[in-house]
Amino acid sequence: MERERVSWRDRYPDEVTCVRCIELRDQVQLDRLLWCDDCRRRARERASWWGWAGGLTFGVGVAAYVWFVIRPSDLVVGGWVATLAAAVWIGQKVAREMIYGGMRFRNARAVEATPPAAAEGDGVE
Ligand SMILES: [Zn+2]
Repeated sequence: MERERVSWRDRYPDEVTCVRCIELRDQVQLDRLLWCDDCRRRARERASWWGWAGGLTFGVGVAAYVWFVIRPSDLVVGGWVATLAAAVWIGQKVAREMIYGGMRFRNARAVEATPPAAAEGDGVE
């Protein structure tokens, strides 16, 4: 029973093709989904960009809610700004994790790959 502890890495050879950039990588650079370090970093950056977009959208929603629903009678600007900043910050974090999770879940193939035609450049002909 104890000898059944087989790492998922044992199923793969030493060099594995990353599913996102289709480059051969050393196995230690890949994670369970066969994403290499670079691709994970790029995915995180993209998720973080969209996370800010989502956070700002959420912040605008909160601002609209405060303005139209709560209707603060005397506006303590500093307090509301801090509230909105917190809303954007938290919204950004939540959105980023959801987006990154979505990317991991979809696990799209070869999205970071450079098409061979583009990689070869203009030296052809
Ligand atoms: Zn990769």
